[in-house]
Formats: sequence, structure tokens, C-alpha cells
Amino acid sequence: MAEQFDVVVIGGGPGGYAAAIRCAQRGAKAALVEKAEMGGTCLNRGCIPSKALLGSAHFLTLAKHASLMGLEMAGPVRPNWAKMMARKDAIVEGFRKGVTGLVQSNKIAIFAGRGVVSAPGKVRIESAGGAQEIACKTIILATGSAPVQIPIFPFDGQTIISSTEALALSAIPASMVIIGGGVIGCELACVYSTVGCKVTIVEALPQLLPNEDEWVGQVMARELKKIGIESMVAKKVTAVTAQGGKARVSLESGEAIEAEKVLVAVGRKAYCDPETLSALKPEMNGPAIRVNRKMETSVPGVYAIGDLVGTTYLAHGAFAEAEVAAVNATGGSEEVGDYERIPRAVYTFPEVASVGKTERKCQQQGIAVVVGKAPFRANGRSLAHNETIGEVRVLREASSKAIVGVTIVGATATEMISTARAMLGSHEMISEVSFAHPTVTEVLKEAWEDAFGLSLHVPPKAK
Ligand code: NAD
Repeated sequence: MAEQFDVVVIGGGPGGYAAAIRCAQRGAKAALVEKAEMGGTCLNRGCIPSKALLGSAHFLTLAKHASLMGLEMAGPVRPNWAKMMARKDAIVEGFRKGVTGLVQSNKIAIFAGRGVVSAPGKVRIESAGGAQEIACKTIILATGSAPVQIPIFPFDGQTIISSTEALALSAIPASMVIIGGGVIGCELACVYSTVGCKVTIVEALPQLLPNEDEWVGQVMARELKKIGIESMVAKKVTAVTAQGGKARVSLESGEAIEAEKVLVAVGRKAYCDPETLSALKPEMNGPAIRVNRKMETSVPGVYAIGDLVGTTYLAHGAFAEAEVAAVNATGGSEEVGDYERIPRAVYTFPEVASVGKTERKCQQQGIAVVVGKAPFRANGRSLAHNETIGEVRVLREASSKAIVGVTIVGATATEMISTARAMLGSHEMISEVSFAHPTVTEVLKEAWEDAFGLSLHVPPKAK
């Protein structure tokens, strides 16, 4: 007889393992089915390896600027790519073991293989060693996403590559064209340019990071240029040809760029093996599974979360959805919160992070805002660290005085954004909060105060 579980989670990425752990904590007998590595895209081919490489690139940048800090180096610092990659692999490997151990310590049964829902309440696990069926009351689908491929120039895995290959190249290419100036494009541009590759970004829309405000794209293009990255915006790629280890990227404008590698980073889309779902036939929303705010699919007892539902394409978005699905799959009742309150974080040089609405969104929605601004160059700790690029903008709704959005461009923006999130919806100043001085985070308070015309360290605006 098939072993019986309360919940079976298919997919061991951040959404899947978090959901399984929360189910187990709630007393459920849970199983987790994973066909590849535990940790999913984020841990194996996304957030963690990219941040490991960005970490090395950041250190290299600091070392290159040593003389500005009054330090003398014995000689120029150079990247050792093989060691950088080995360090990245070791971090990933360590985390993978950690996540597996964590899941096991919660007494969750791990099944290695492809999970196929043979009927509601029945999951078949297919692996090289054969197939077995398990039974359950509820199912949580968390099978993630895959890079978007452009049909006229599909990935060849060698010259025309996705972020998966870009995180595992065996050598630093002499040149790289990155198609797509979004999150992945800009982050990997920073890695490769810092280690000596000639990087050109081609973005179809009129700015880099087009989900953020225009000024963010402008600062990004300017700062990337300083580290040798050329940004071509509002450019359409018409063809990419690869021959003899070289590629040629042709643009609609008639321009052409040659490079050793072409990284296509034009988005990700929800993905699930068709077989996994064939017996279920849930309602879809394009490539994504349609869910309601309880993360319920159209099939009773079946939930879906993370990239598979196409909401945020963020690991922490998946964590939030996992929490909701786990509660609902184990007898509780919860709804997912406001997606706008989930922070966005880009680990570029400089970092970009935002939460709530952008100025563009406010304009589109007819919300009049007062914009409070504070530059990093006026912050003592930022000066001490020689990290003075960028600013914070806090958007205060003119009518209600509530903070509706915060955008940070600058060092440690991604760390500060969770603090900034606490400002959202507030009608009060945070003047009663004591920020340690000097700290970089004080720049948040400055921008907040500026939104109320009460900044202590920014000169008054001309009336
Ligand atoms: P993205 O949506 O951030 O950026 C894709 C970019 O490609 C957009 O700017 C788009 O305008 C552009 N584009 C689309 N088609 C194009 C074309 N034919 N030519 C030129 N430009 C084109 O997607 P991504 O950078 O591929 O990242 C995928 C997903 O992974 C995103 O949803 C992202 O949120 C997530 N991710 C997040 C992080 C992070 O939070 N730090 C890091 C990496 C990836």
C-alpha cells in the first residue's frame, strides 16, 4: 500500500522546502519530492551563486580602490577565476547540505525523483531506480521557473547562454553581450566587468532596470559605465548568430556587436514538467498556475506557490506564499498579503532596492506624492567607507501623509530595504526612532524627514 502523508510538496526550492517545514511544524506528516538538487534555482543557479561571485567582485573593487583609502598594495590585485568559482561552489554545496539537513531534522521524508500527480491525493515519484506512489491529503506544487528563451536565437549552452551557464563558466570571456538590462543582466554585468570582461548590455526598453523609476536607470547606466560596462537602451535585437566560439548580435538600428558570449537575460517564466500536471489540469494563467489569495489552485486540495504562480519571481516572495499555502494545506486559513510590500533587491554596484510604489506607479494611479530625498554623500559612515554614490527617495502621499514607497540606490541598499518597509503606510515621522550615529541607515531617516520638510542635514529647498 502507498505510504500515506498529510502533505506532499513537489519542488525543493525556497518555496517548497519552506512550505514543507511549516507543514511539519504544524504537526503534519510531510514529504518533499525533488528531481534535482535541494534548494532549487535560488540556491543552485540563482541568488546564492550570483551573490557569491558578486561578493568576490566587490572585494576586488575594494582592493582596486585601496589607494583611495590610504593603503598601499604590494602589486595589482587580480581575480583568480578558478578560485572564485570554487569558492562559489563551496558556498552552494554547504548551503545545499544545510537545507537538506534542515528538512530532515523536521522529520520530512525526502523523495529524490520527479513528482507526477497521478490523481488528486496521489503522487508518483519517478527516478532512475524505478517508480513508487505515495498518497496524501493535500499537495503543494512549487516547481519553479526557467529562463525565457527567444525563439529566433535559442540557447546553445556554449555561446548563447542563460544565467545558469553564466554562473558556471570555466574561464572569463574576453567579451560578453548581455541581452536584457533587468535584474540578472545588471548583476552579472557587474561580476564579469569587474573581472576584466568587456560587457555590453542591450535593453529593449528606454532604461536599465525598467521596473524601477527612470532616475534609478540613469544612475545605474552612469555607474556601470564607470566600471567599463556599455549600456545600450531602447535597442531591439533582431538576430544573434554564433559560429566558431564567437557571436554577432545584430540590432534593428543596423548596429552589430561581436562577443565571445551572449547572455540572454530577458526574464524567467513559470515551469512545471507537463507530466507532473497532466492528470490535474489546473487552470492556468499563461505558463503559470492560477491561484487565489489562499494559494489554492482550481483543483481542490492542490496549492501552488513561488515562481510557478508567476507573481514575484523572488525567493522571499515564495517564502511568503509558502507560509500561506502551508497553513491552508494543514487546516488553517490565511491569505497572502499585499505583494507591493514585498521588497525588491538588486545586488549591483551600487545596489538598488525598493518597496511599495515607484513614482511611475503613483503617476499611473493618480496618486500625488511629496518626494523626500537624501544623498549618501551627506552621510558620515558612507563617506568613511568611500561609498557615497546614490540616494534614498521616500514617497509620501500628499493627501494622507502615508509613506507609499521607498527606493534606495547605494551601498547596502538591499540590507536597508527591510527597515524601509516598516515605514510603509505610516503617517508618523520616525523621528522617535533612534538611529545609531554614524550609520549608513541614517540616510533613510534623512529622506523620511525630507518628505516632511524637516530634514536636519539637507539644506532647505528654495521656496
Ligand atoms: P527581468 O524581468 O528583471 O529583466 C529582463 C529585461 O529584459 C527587462 O528589462 C526587459 O525589458 C528586457 N528584455 C526583454 N526582452 C528583450 C529583448 N528581446 N531584447 C532586449 N531586452 C529585452 O528578468 P531577469 O533579469 O531575466 O530575471 C528573471 C527573474 O529572476 C526576475 O523576475 C527577477 O526578479 C528574478 N531575479 C531576481 C534577482 C534579485 O532579486 N536580486 C536576481 C536575479 C533574478
